[in-house]
Amino acid sequence: MDAGLKRELEAKVYAGERLTREDGIALYASDDLTWLGRLAHHKRTELNGDRVMFNVNRHLNLTNVCSASCAYCSFQRKPGEKDAYTMRIDEAVRKAKEMEDEQLTELHIVNGLHPTLPWRYYPKVLRELKAALPKVNLKAFTATEVQWFEKISGLSADQILDELMDAGLESLTGGGAEIFDWEIRQHIVDHACHWEDWSRIHRLAHSKGMKTPSTMLYGHIEEPRHRVDHVLRLRELQDETGGFQVFIPLRYQHDFVDSADGKIRNRIQARTTMASPAESLKTFAVSRLLFDNVPHVKCFWVMHGLSVAQLSLNFGVDDLDGSVVEYKITHDADSYGTPNTMHRDDLLHLIWDAGFRPMERNTRYEVVREYDAAPTLAQRRAEPQQVWA
Ligand code: SF4
Repeated sequence: MDAGLKRELEAKVYAGERLTREDGIALYASDDLTWLGRLAHHKRTELNGDRVMFNVNRHLNLTNVCSASCAYCSFQRKPGEKDAYTMRIDEAVRKAKEMEDEQLTELHIVNGLHPTLPWRYYPKVLRELKAALPKVNLKAFTATEVQWFEKISGLSADQILDELMDAGLESLTGGGAEIFDWEIRQHIVDHACHWEDWSRIHRLAHSKGMKTPSTMLYGHIEEPRHRVDHVLRLRELQDETGGFQVFIPLRYQHDFVDSADGKIRNRIQARTTMASPAESLKTFAVSRLLFDNVPHVKCFWVMHGLSVAQLSLNFGVDDLDGSVVEYKITHDADSYGTPNTMHRDDLLHLIWDAGFRPMERNTRYEVVREYDAAPTLAQRRAEPQQVWA
């Protein structure tokens, strides 16, 4: 990058000026990862100090049966496939109850678009989960699922959200966003929920007082300009509603065939590579700088590995998800030795070892528990340190 442009962008960041689309594209074109990290870390420190938030949650996928066939998805199964499953409500409750000893504060529930499950199943499952675990916040359903519920119930999203909230829904999840630009979206997304409906449903949720996460699936067939466009759409909606709590860049995964039938379901695998760690760190940094009105940027460590998750804390990230005991959608596609289970103590040490102060939060980003700051270098040198994979 031209030295003059570099100085200009740096001055804008330190003056707190909003970055433009062209600025975002220029930042992605820079190979100076250290410089990008310094800018993003400045922004992250202004907003969140040396704090790293995390929550103790469980991911629950009620069904992997899906009417859509998104090109990148290794999770979905068609009815009758060998490892297709759908949980009965009592099964879902039993699985959630198994986690009670973990002192979880959140259940994160996303599912396939099941062709025959009736709409009534969904509020019912929330009600029963809430009755079984009254202190646990229910973060459930993507905007894509809410649009699917409109289709299968004949109700409006307004009525659907009211009923789900009455049944205990605390927040929607941020999934289904992928990449909004149609140039890319038409090749990877098979369901009918695109920017117009995704933004309509999150806007509606925000108008009801709900705070929601936002996501982006990166590192497949998109180019940096599509990532910039994606973030700017979200930033504009955030200007309007203020309802997004966090932005989560999700790393596109190859299908490493740990499924029972050995099939590769990812249809763009042959012409894609997964984002490298450096590309992921760049994406975190540029996202933090561009999405200036969202309070938090999260690294979902299951998709990035623990070392990149630690490094991401110096590239704009201030939130780590979470104590995941079971996460099917990603784990089906992961072969990097990343554990699919981390507990509170593991996360605390991961954050301390990276030099930050852990803070446990709930779904609303309220602080549940504060912890000490990271130990000093002298303290760290005094005892052997754990090496993370
Ligand atoms: S990404 Fe979601 S909607 Fe698309 S095929 Fe997979 S489970 Fe279905």
